[in-house]
Amino acid sequence: MNTNLQKAVDGTRITPAEALDILKNTSWTEVVEAGDAIRRRMNPGNRVGYTAFRIVNYTNVCEVTCSFCSFCRPAHSPEAYVLSLDEIRRKTLEAKAKGADQIFLQGGVNRDIPLSYYTDVLQMLTREMGVKVRGFSPVELVRIAESNNITLDELLDVLKEAGLSSVPGAGAEILSDRMRQMLSPRKLTAQQWCDTLAACHRKGLPGSANIVVGSVETAEEIIEHLNYVRSTQDRAPDAAHGFKSFVVWTFQPQTDKFPIRHVRGDEYLKLLALSRIFLDNIPHIEVSLLGMGLSLGELGLHAGADDINSIVIEENVLQNHGLTTIEAAEKFITDAGFTPYRRSLNFD
Ligand code: SF4
Repeated sequence: MNTNLQKAVDGTRITPAEALDILKNTSWTEVVEAGDAIRRRMNPGNRVGYTAFRIVNYTNVCEVTCSFCSFCRPAHSPEAYVLSLDEIRRKTLEAKAKGADQIFLQGGVNRDIPLSYYTDVLQMLTREMGVKVRGFSPVELVRIAESNNITLDELLDVLKEAGLSSVPGAGAEILSDRMRQMLSPRKLTAQQWCDTLAACHRKGLPGSANIVVGSVETAEEIIEHLNYVRSTQDRAPDAAHGFKSFVVWTFQPQTDKFPIRHVRGDEYLKLLALSRIFLDNIPHIEVSLLGMGLSLGELGLHAGADDINSIVIEENVLQNHGLTTIEAAEKFITDAGFTPYRRSLNFD
C-alpha cells in the first residue's frame, strides 16, 4: 500500500500535501481499500445509518443568485414566495405522518423576512409540533444577522433559544475562492464560511459539512476544501458540537450558467475514500444516493462511508433521485449487507 495511505490506516494524520499526492498519483482501488479500513476502525461493526427528515424551503427569494441554482427568484418575481406558518405546519404534519420527526429549514437570502418570522417558525416547530430543527446555511445566518443589526453570536443565541438544534454546512460547494468567485461570487468566502460554522459550533449547534464536485475544480482545490473543513473541525469545542458528518455531492445540471462535467464512479469513490482518510476528526462519512444513484451508493459503503444520508420527503433545490421511505432505506442497507440504524440529524 502507498506509504501515506498506510500511515493513515495506522492512525496518523496525513498532511494536505500527502493527500494531494494520494489524489493525483494513487489508484482508486488502493484509496478505497484504505478508506474502508479506516471506516472499520472509526465505526466498528456492520452498522450503516440513515435519517428521516423533511426539507422545508421556507422562501425561494434569494439575492445571492448562484450560477448553479434554478430555485431562487427575485423578490418581485410572480413565482416568489415565503411560506406562512400554516403552510409550514401542514408540511410538518405530512412529514410526521410519513415517520419523519425532523425538519430542515432552508431558504434563500431574503432580507424582507423579519427576525420574528424565524423565531415564530422555530418555536412552532419545536414547542407545538415536537420536531427537531436543523436550519440555515452560513450565508443565510450572516445576512439575517446583518439585516437585523445584530452580531452573528447574538443571532445564534436567539435562534437556539427559539429551538434551532443544528446547522447544515450548506453552501460550501468548493472552498476555494477562485471557484467561489466563479460559482457564487455573492456568497461567503471560504474563510467566512468556516468562521460562521465555527461560531455555530461554539454556540453548541453541531452540523455537517460537504463538498460538491463536478465543475472545473482542480485536485489542489479539492484538498484545499478538505483542509478548510478539517481545520474548522479542529476549532470545535468538542466532538459533540462540530461537524458530525461529511458528504460528497456532485453538481446536478440545473442551469447552463456554469461548467459542469460528469463525475465518474471511480472518481467519486476515490474522493469519498480520501475524505474518510483525511477527515480524521469527523466521525461519519455519508454517501450521496441522490447524486450518484443506488448502485454506486452501495459501493460507497465499502469505500469509507457508514451512512446513506437520508430519505428525502421534499427538496426543491435538488430533484430527488434517492430513497423516499424508511422501509426502502432499511431494505437498501440490509440488501447491501449491513445493519441499518436510524439516527437523528445530529447523530444522537
Ligand atoms: S443556492 Fe442558495 S444561496 Fe445560492 S442562489 Fe440558490 S438559494 Fe440562494
